[in-house]
Amino acid sequence: MVAVVGPSETRQLVGDADVGVDAVVVDVAGVVVDVVVVDVAGVVVDAVVVGVVGAVVDAVAVDVVGVVVAAEDHRTEDRIVVYFTSLRGIRRTYEDCYAVRMIFRGFRVVVDERDIWMDSAYKKELLSVLGEKNVSLPQVFIRGNYVGGVDAIRQLYDVGDLAKMLKGLPIRAPGYVCESCGDARFVPCVNCNGSRKVYDEDEDQLKKCLECNENGLIRCMTCCS
Ligand SMILES: [Zn+2]
Ligand SMILES: [Zn+2]
Repeated sequence: MVAVVGPSETRQLVGDADVGVDAVVVDVAGVVVDVVVVDVAGVVVDAVVVGVVGAVVDAVAVDVVGVVVAAEDHRTEDRIVVYFTSLRGIRRTYEDCYAVRMIFRGFRVVVDERDIWMDSAYKKELLSVLGEKNVSLPQVFIRGNYVGGVDAIRQLYDVGDLAKMLKGLPIRAPGYVCESCGDARFVPCVNCNGSRKVYDEDEDQLKKCLECNENGLIRCMTCCS
């Protein structure tokens, strides 16, 4: 059984108390997100759903009669999400990413910039959302809808459609820079100070820090919540 959950009904999904529920597809913003594994009694045994366009559903728990009891849903309607890379390795990609980010800066809209070079989880998230094994950068989502890459954005910009699409979205104050991260969107992990290792007193040894990403960074809570 597959249940599709619309943005407005995230808490009432799924239905079916019957044995044999095996998959739940959660859709928050018109994009299929991921499969949730449900056991034979209809109980979700593992559900971490990584979403699109503004994060989405972190975890879904379904009780024995198939009713979602908890679903954290970060709304996406007022969001622009740009997946990009700050790595200069491939010049064309870097320039495309820069160009798209500058177009949005020109509109002064708030953009959720997701740098896959800073955090590979963003790359996984993007590939999962688009259902691809490989994808070029940048990639843009507006209000939960997939828009496309640099060519799509440039074209929309040139004909004036982008301005229309962005109407009503939150605007940044002129000259605003996040005071916590300086717009890097990441800050060094406070748990391990960015070393990725923490000392475990009980076992008298260094262990991998579970709070941060592969670069010893955590997302800035001030501007990326
Ligand atoms: Zn850490
Ligand atoms: Zn910040």
